Amino acid sequence: MVPQRSFTVSVIEVVRETADTHSIVLVPAAADAHLFDFEPGQFLTLQVPSEQAGGAARPYALSGSGPVGEPMRVTVRRKRGGYASNWICDHLRVGDQIDVLPPEGTFGPTAVEDRDLLLVAEEIGVASVMSLLAARLRAGRRRVTLLYVHAGASVLFGEELAALERRYDGRLDVLHLSDPGPLATDAEVIRARLAGAPGPDVVVCGPPALLDVATRAAADAGVPAARLWAQSRA
Ligand SMILES: Cc1cc2nc3c(=O)[nH]c(=O)nc-3n(C[C@H](O)[C@H](O)[C@H](O)COP(=O)(O)OP(=O)(O)OC[C@H]3O[C@@H](n4cnc5c(N)ncnc54)[C@H](O)[C@@H]3O)c2cc1C
Repeated sequence: MVPQRSFTVSVIEVVRETADTHSIVLVPAAADAHLFDFEPGQFLTLQVPSEQAGGAARPYALSGSGPVGEPMRVTVRRKRGGYASNWICDHLRVGDQIDVLPPEGTFGPTAVEDRDLLLVAEEIGVASVMSLLAARLRAGRRRVTLLYVHAGASVLFGEELAALERRYDGRLDVLHLSDPGPLATDAEVIRARLAGAPGPDVVVCGPPALLDVATRAAADAGVPAARLWAQSRA
């Protein structure tokens, strides 16, 4: 396999979203712009500098909820003892440059289907579903529900989601579930939502335990495997 080539992009904005989470907005050089068109659900691999040979390459979901053509945004939560996530949050500033691989991967429905969309995300997992949520709101006509499991105090994208709920009056429903909360409750809520919206696409991103209950609840509700996408984020 031919190794992918990396490109240098510039940091044009850094947002401290919560105490331990930063969003970084990146733009490529004009000559490389055509390589950085991205699809909802894709990720960018940041090549974090390091004294170790080869640096530290880590994938981060493209988390933007804006219109097509907006600059790329990734949202990074510090991992305790982690190398790259802490380096990004500690070091990247507006005007800096960093090497990245062009957007890649597929996660979630690739086309905007005429179907409801149910997203289930826990904590940083929400970064991986934001672009799918926004794309379906922009281009679709059906309802989007986000079951968002989080610890509560400072909610990642809380204001952004509230603004989207107002903007797409009645089509976006964000339901906040507490973490740590009983997984049985999460499963019950997921089942209730699925019962109320037959035939949705279902996308899940979170720790393995949530993936387990959500995918089981979806299967029990008759969601076919082809309409179910799940990605683990510990
Ligand atoms: C598809 C996908 C999308 C993702 N999206 C997101 C997202 O949107 N947001 C998010 O926060 N996370 C996301 N992640 C997780 C993210 O990629 C990282 O795994 C996470 O940030 C933890 O990385 P870390 O380097 O901080 O931690 P670790 O990878 O746990 O860091 C420890 C590792 O770093 C190595 N290390 C230690 N020191 C050095 C050094 N000096 N140089 C080089 N290596 C060193 C150690 O050997 C050890 O293996 C995603 C993961 C995937 C697979």
